[in-house]
Amino acid sequence: MPCRDHASGEAVHGEVRVGVSRCLLGDGVRYDGGHKRDVFVADTLAPFVRYVAVCPEVEMGMGAPREAIRLVRGEDGPRLRGVDGGEDHSARMRRFAARRAVELRELDLHGYILKKDSPSCGLFHVPVFDADAGPGAAPTRDGRGSFAGALVDAIPELPMEEEGRLEIPALRGHFLERVFAYRRLQAMLSGHWRTGDLAAFHAAEKFLLLAHDPGGQAELGRLAAGAKGIPRGRLAGDYRTLFMATLSRPATVRKHVNVLRHMAGHLENLLDRGSRAELHRTIGEYRLGRAPLAVPVAAVRRFARRRDVAWLAGQTYLSPCPEELMPRDRVQGASRHPGGGPGGRSRRPGYRRAGPAAPPVEPEPLYRSLSRLPPP
Ligand code: SF4
Repeated sequence: MPCRDHASGEAVHGEVRVGVSRCLLGDGVRYDGGHKRDVFVADTLAPFVRYVAVCPEVEMGMGAPREAIRLVRGEDGPRLRGVDGGEDHSARMRRFAARRAVELRELDLHGYILKKDSPSCGLFHVPVFDADAGPGAAPTRDGRGSFAGALVDAIPELPMEEEGRLEIPALRGHFLERVFAYRRLQAMLSGHWRTGDLAAFHAAEKFLLLAHDPGGQAELGRLAAGAKGIPRGRLAGDYRTLFMATLSRPATVRKHVNVLRHMAGHLENLLDRGSRAELHRTIGEYRLGRAPLAVPVAAVRRFARRRDVAWLAGQTYLSPCPEELMPRDRVQGASRHPGGGPGGRSRRPGYRRAGPAAPPVEPEPLYRSLSRLPPP
């Protein structure tokens, strides 16, 4: 289901294609023949996206039910071994995953949801066992599933998350923002675009980018402004890499307040005193944790529409994805969440490549209090 532009009512997001670990949709593909149906994945998000469901272990011929497998520490990294017989599936999975990841890249996906803790699909903190560990020995939780690792290598810009982390509103909001933004970018770059199209795209994304990383937003602005002399293929690649890296940085309350004040400034001379006061009051209440972000965002949108400021009303910041999907608290603790995607900051040139460990996910106390507020 496409998202609608607030100003025109036109569909703006088009078809959104999301890869998914098949067991999350309720298919009995797990080692015991069961599934891990996830309500958000199977019910909430499903009407808005087209899923590409993949079970790597079944697709590589292991069948269901099958012997359970796990990651076991080896000399050159974790190996994928049967829990009972110890059979080593690493080489077969590596060949399968490399081929399948390339196929999935060709499908032009916009996001991927993976099953946590799986030795094949898990993205973060997957258990790794010592080869000679006795029964009951605790694993370390520093692994990444073999298939998930191949996906990250093949499609580094692709927004990816685990279903468990998507239960946290801030992480879910961040993931959805990136998925729908990636869809918009890929739609623009897939046509016969001109440098003016890139400039227009960047202008509409400006405040969304600003809420995540002002430095990245400025760098992208320079890239779009100086686009004329750059070969088209290189320009698209550089812009895509930096765009997704910028959005992978977490938004914070402080950055949102900065964006909202910027937007309010563009309305300042068009509003009467009462409306101006109302707008600033909603921003202040959000800053103090007394209202969710949705409140000042709705106020900016309402006043921009009422005053016919089309460029402002059309900012993707005001409608990053379908409203039915967006959690009310879409912000997360910045300093505690150094990267939003599996590659984290590594996708921005010059950033250090993150390991498989996930960033901490505890919401700030502000969100715990906000989550108890009634709907606006
Ligand atoms: S976690 Fe991955 S490999 Fe395991 S059952 Fe689900 S889709 Fe298949």
